Amino acid sequence: MTLRLEGKRALVTGGGRGIGRAIALAYAREGARCVVTSRRLEDLEETAAEAPNGLVSAIRCDVSDSSSVRDMSDFVNNLFGGVDIVVNNAGIHAAGRFLDIEPETYSELYEVNVVGVVRVSQAFLPGMLERGRGSIVNIASTAGLFESPGQAPYNASKHGVVGLTRCMALELAAAGVTCNAICPGFVDTPMLDGFADLVGAESEELRSRLAQRTPMGRILDPSEIANLAVYLGSDESSGMTGQTMAISNGMRMS
Ligand code: NDP
Repeated sequence: MTLRLEGKRALVTGGGRGIGRAIALAYAREGARCVVTSRRLEDLEETAAEAPNGLVSAIRCDVSDSSSVRDMSDFVNNLFGGVDIVVNNAGIHAAGRFLDIEPETYSELYEVNVVGVVRVSQAFLPGMLERGRGSIVNIASTAGLFESPGQAPYNASKHGVVGLTRCMALELAAAGVTCNAICPGFVDTPMLDGFADLVGAESEELRSRLAQRTPMGRILDPSEIANLAVYLGSDESSGMTGQTMAISNGMRMS
């Protein structure tokens, strides 16, 4: 049986838990060698330990820090001789009424959710351009496609990721590098626990409230996002670029 990512080398930011962990494990199951990064090495090592055949390696990196990204990309390029797939998944959230959120929160989210994508992509693109192929997969959000109540800084940052995806796709297309965005709805990850804390709700109560807002009446499993990330990292999607694909239990229909 041919694996869908056999021979590919991938980098997944924010791969220590949640969606990033699910993507890294799915990539490894499909035969890719993968590096996961985030700020907490313990989480990354747990992801690596769950992966088949030692295919996932863990390296600490803060995507909001240019020198940290440079050190990480030097290490990964030496380890693998370049990467074929970059998954820009690391992200942070904030919630609250527009009038109550300080402008500094917008800068903090922008640094991680948008400029983090820029830093990591720029670090790996020269190699991709040289080889004339590569896939960049940005994890945006349905919050990057339409309004979401009480999440202005997060919503603004994810609209930024969607815009960035389209501009990168346009500039990279002729060089054989694709860039697409996945826009998940509500996914069952530790981010929802942080969301619950921010709005003063119990985690399970928040999950049930969010589920009720979707036509399917449930929240997503991280593996459902990983399935699309496998497709976008594989040669099966070689003709697709600049797309923003919602997996949202029907919240976004187009
Ligand atoms: P989690 O909070 O569960 O995981 C986020 C990951 O990002 C962690 O590994 C975290 O590790 C890492 N991270 C955060 N800040 C940084 C940083 N500065 N540098 C490097 N890594 C960082 O979130 P999810 O798995 O839910 O989210 C993953 C992505 O999916 C995010 O971009 C999120 O916005 C998006 N998304 C999530 C949805 C959901 O409902 N869960 C819905 C739509 C989109 P550490 O803190 O150790 O650095």
